[in-house]
Amino acid sequence: MKYVSTRDPQRIEVSAATAISRGLAPDGGLYVPTSFPQFKEYLGKSYNELAHAVLMLYLTDFSEGELQEAIGSAYRHYQPVRLNGDYLELYHGATLAFKDVALQLFPHLLTASLKKTGVEKTAVIVTATSGDTGPAVLAGIADVPGIKAFVFYPNNGVSPVQRLQMTTNEGKNVHVFGIEGNFDDAQNGVKDIFADEAFKEKFSSDYLFTSANSINIGRLLPQVVYYFYSYAQLVESGRIQDGEPVNYVVPTGNFGNILAGYYAKQMGLPIGKLICATNKNDVLDEFFKTGVYNGDRDFHLTLSPSMDILISSNLERLTSGDGADLGTFASGSATDEQTLAKIQEVFRETGYVIDPHTAVAKTVADRYQLESGDKTLTLVVSTAAPHKFSETVETAIGQKLERSPEQIRGLHEKQVLHPGIANDLKSAIQEVLACS
Ligand SMILES: *Cc1c(COP(=O)(O)O)cnc(C)c1O
Repeated sequence: MKYVSTRDPQRIEVSAATAISRGLAPDGGLYVPTSFPQFKEYLGKSYNELAHAVLMLYLTDFSEGELQEAIGSAYRHYQPVRLNGDYLELYHGATLAFKDVALQLFPHLLTASLKKTGVEKTAVIVTATSGDTGPAVLAGIADVPGIKAFVFYPNNGVSPVQRLQMTTNEGKNVHVFGIEGNFDDAQNGVKDIFADEAFKEKFSSDYLFTSANSINIGRLLPQVVYYFYSYAQLVESGRIQDGEPVNYVVPTGNFGNILAGYYAKQMGLPIGKLICATNKNDVLDEFFKTGVYNGDRDFHLTLSPSMDILISSNLERLTSGDGADLGTFASGSATDEQTLAKIQEVFRETGYVIDPHTAVAKTVADRYQLESGDKTLTLVVSTAAPHKFSETVETAIGQKLERSPEQIRGLHEKQVLHPGIANDLKSAIQEVLACS
């Protein structure tokens, strides 16, 4: 399998290892596969076996053994994915958000890719986070040889749990800074670094700057697996016949998760509708309803902060090729009031507790089913554990959450190792790299 940049009219092809090492293409575009392999053998496999079978089709320059080892190491401690009724829970990983699915595997893919492409430098991952990517990057990369990570988070914009997950990370190769500003400021600072050739050149004899955000195809592909896995579970438990369609409602920000579902559908998985759920930052809902993408609008801070985004980078992967099947998508949005009411309603009726992002999806799912009359089995993709957003969730359900999952137990007693605030991202990076 080869990869091309979304912005390259000449469609110059590169290997998976090159695409993963680079993150973003040199022309600023995103790497996409040149075709979609068909895949039907999803029944009767464990998660890891399925991950291996799917990823072998895309990472064709990796050996079977290499992939097996990468997948085995990635999911040894935490297997993030669990189907629970109509909820596809993706949050049982190291940091309790769905980003763990890809980020527990990504460092292994990156180190193998660097080796394959003959890069002997240390990879420097620079990440801006609104709260979930940061902890997941740090957990995945801590103490992995050949990689360093810098994470910048908005000092006043993350939950107490998210902050502690980052500032107490014990990896020797990770560096964490708060910034005075919002997520957009952090993101702009990082983009500025990637665009600054002179800055990167200063360190180019020892370091290669790359990205672990979902613009990296190595982040996206591991997410294709859980669509196959959940579908297979539905067949194996007798809830559907193989071949029957299933809908997925996905709480969406940067359009990575739902795009992975689209890839699964292109590979032959019988997905009916992919329903894109947004919060008050409803630029994608508007896009699917009108065909016009207009990110030029007010930015809203909401109770589902990981979806507070106006520039959904991965949409370019859907719209750049000809013949994107936009008819697969439906969409909707939910306000904070609706989000809180849905957490409360689900808890009251079933005793099940969902996080605010999942509640956005559930709100949109219920409305979609009512308005469309579509009776297709519909899974709600659940992207974070409620404990990660305990203040919001406890307000909604009117009581304390039960005991925390082991991943965050004792977090409040851990030592803060990264108290730093950075005024300037480049100086912060420069200081660290100069003395290591
Ligand atoms: C990142 C994130 C999302 C959005 O996923 P995208 O792939 O960016 O669309 C939704 N929910 C949670 C909890 C997240 O961390």
